Amino acid sequence: MSQPADILFLNAHILTMDEKMQQFNPGALVVLEDSIVAVGPEEELKGEYTARETIDCDGSILMPGLVNAHTHVPMTLLRGIADDLRLDVWLQGYVWPVEKEFASPEFVRLGTSIACAELIRSGVTTFNDMYFYEDDVATATAQAGMRGICGQSILKFPTPDAASYEDAMEKAREYIKKWKDHPLIIPSIAPHAPYTCTAQILRETTDLAKEFDVPLHTHLAETFFEVENMRNENGMPVIPYVKKQGLLEAKLIAAHCVHVDAGEIRTLYHAGAGVSHNPSSNLKLASGFAPVTKMLEVGLNVGIGTDGPASNNDLDMFEEVRLAAFVAKAVTNDPTSLPAPQALLMGTRLGAQALHIGHLTGSLTPGRRADLILVDLSPTHNSPSFRRAADNPYAQIVYAAKSTDVSDVMINGKWVMRDRKLLTINEAELLAEAAQIAKKMDAFLIEREQSVLSKLITLGGSSEEESFEVQVKVRLAETGPIVQALMRNEIDILYERHYRQHDVYFFFEDETQGRLRYREDDFIDTPNGRPTRTRSRLTLIGRKREGKFEHEVLLSRSRFLAPATNSLRFYREYFTPKTEATIEKDRLRWFIKYKETEFYVNLDNVNTPQLGYFLEIKSRTWSRKDADNKSHMLNELLELLSASGGETVTQDYIDMVENPSGS
Ligand SMILES: [Zn+2]
Repeated sequence: MSQPADILFLNAHILTMDEKMQQFNPGALVVLEDSIVAVGPEEELKGEYTARETIDCDGSILMPGLVNAHTHVPMTLLRGIADDLRLDVWLQGYVWPVEKEFASPEFVRLGTSIACAELIRSGVTTFNDMYFYEDDVATATAQAGMRGICGQSILKFPTPDAASYEDAMEKAREYIKKWKDHPLIIPSIAPHAPYTCTAQILRETTDLAKEFDVPLHTHLAETFFEVENMRNENGMPVIPYVKKQGLLEAKLIAAHCVHVDAGEIRTLYHAGAGVSHNPSSNLKLASGFAPVTKMLEVGLNVGIGTDGPASNNDLDMFEEVRLAAFVAKAVTNDPTSLPAPQALLMGTRLGAQALHIGHLTGSLTPGRRADLILVDLSPTHNSPSFRRAADNPYAQIVYAAKSTDVSDVMINGKWVMRDRKLLTINEAELLAEAAQIAKKMDAFLIEREQSVLSKLITLGGSSEEESFEVQVKVRLAETGPIVQALMRNEIDILYERHYRQHDVYFFFEDETQGRLRYREDDFIDTPNGRPTRTRSRLTLIGRKREGKFEHEVLLSRSRFLAPATNSLRFYREYFTPKTEATIEKDRLRWFIKYKETEFYVNLDNVNTPQLGYFLEIKSRTWSRKDADNKSHMLNELLELLSASGGETVTQDYIDMVENPSGS
C-alpha cells in the first residue's frame, strides 16, 4: 500500500551529503510537511508514495541547501560603501559611523530581506547571522521563509541598538525568550569579539547561552594583530583566553580562526565548537589563511561563510565553497588537499554541524527538515557531465556551477523559489528602497569627508575641546642658565617632568583645515633613562594665528584634543594627509607659578630634524583679554629667565615645523 506524501521528487541526481555521501541517480526524495521522509533510488520509492505534487527534476542535481556559516545580513545596504581598506579603518572610520547614523529596525529589516533574496537565489537555505536589532533580522528572515541562527550583538561600547552592554544583555534575554521555539529561527547571543568585549561580557554571554541552550556566535583570531595584542595584554593567544572566560562551555560558533595553532585547534575540537571559514573576507581584508585542512584532519566541524556583504561583497556560497577549495590547495601547495566533495560538505552538512543544527539540516536524510535545492546543469559552463567517478558531480558543482544555476529552493518543506522566481520576497520594491538609503549614506559621508574636524569627531570616544594658549619660543645655545634661573624665589615649581616627544604632523590639501598632530610622550622617570609609559594624543591645531603680541608672543587655538587610541598607521590611512612632518625632541618640562599665574616652561632638544635647543613658555587662556594680560606676564617671565636677549623664533619655528621640506 502506498503512503501519503506532500511532494515527490523524481528523476533527480541526488547528492545526499549524508555520512556515507550517498548519491542516487536517478533518485527520488519524499517530503511530508516540513521534513524529508525518504530518499533513495527512483525505482524503489516511486511506487511507495502517493504525493500531492510530483516534481520531475529532469536530471538536475538535488542537494541540501547551502549553509552560510557566518554573515551579517543587514549589511547588504552597506555593500560597496568603502573598500580596499584595513579592517580597523574600514570598521571605525566608515562602517561604525554609518551604522550609528542609519541603523534602525526598518534599516535592518530591509537589509535582511534583500539578503534573503540574494541567499535564496544562490541556493542558501540556512545562514548564521550577527548584527544589531536582531529581533528585526529574525522577523524579516522568518517572513522570507529562511532558516536563520540570528545572533544579537553585544559590544563593550554603545551600539545603534543599546546605550550600554547591560542594556544590550537585557534586550538579548528578551529576544532569545521570544524566538526560542520558532520553527525557522534559532536565536543566539553574539559577543562581537574578544577585543570589543570585556572578560565580563564574555562570561555573561556564555551564561546566557547556557541558560537557554542557544548558540554563542563570535569572531575569534581573525587578524595577526588581534593575536599579538592578546598576547601583549593577557599573555596568551585568543583561544586559551576565551576558554579562561568560559566561552567554550557554550555551543560556540567561532568565525574566522585564521591565526590559531595546533593546540588551539584541538581545544576547539574537544569543546565541540564549530568554526566558520570565510575565504573571501580573509582574502579581501588580507587577514591571512586559516589552517582549514588541519582543522578538518582533527575532526573539527568547519563550515563556510561569506561574512558580511560589505566585506566580501556578496553572499554567494557557490563562490565561497570554490574559494575554500582553491585557497586550501594554494596554501598547502597541494592540489589534492580539500577536494570538491569535502568542500561541498563544508558548505552543507559540516556547516550545519558547526552551527550545532546538524540534526535539523545540512543533508538529505530522512528525519531532517526539507531544506533542499535543485541545480540546473544544462547551461554551457556545466557541460559535459562525466559520471565515471563518484567525485565527478561534486567537482561539477564546486568548480563549474554558478549560483545562478540554482533553479528551485525549498526550506522547511515550503517552496521559496520556483523556476528562479522568488515566492516570498518582492525584490524590485526592496532594491528601490535600498537605492534611496544609499543616496543618503553617500551624502552623509561626502559631507563628513570634507572636514578633518568632523572626521576626527566621527571616530568617537573623545570630547571636543577648544583651547587657546599664548606661547613664545626662544632659540638657545645652551640650557644651563635657564635651569639655574628657574631656581629663583619668584618662581614656584609645581612639578617637573622629563620625556621624549614624538610628533607627527599631518598637513592637508585644504590648509584652512588646520594641521593634525599625533603626539607620543614617552615618560622618563627612571635613572637609566628608559621610558616607563607612553601617552598618545591627537590635536587638531588651527592653522591661523589668533593674535600676536610683543616679542613674538603668539596666541593659538587648538580645536580638538583627543586621546589617540589607534595607531599612527590607522590615522594616516584614515585621514590621508597630503604631507607629513616628524619632530622628535627630548623635553624637560616645568609646571610653574609666577605671580599667581601658571605657565609651562619647556626646554627642548629637537633632534629630528636637527634644530638644537629651544625654550618654550606657554600658558592656557580663555579669552582675548586674558591673552593680553598673560602675554605681558609671559614677557616678564622671559626677562626673568634671562633669555629675552636670545632670539625669539616663535613664528620661524612654526614655519619650520609646518614646512619641513621648504626650510
Ligand atoms: Zn564577521
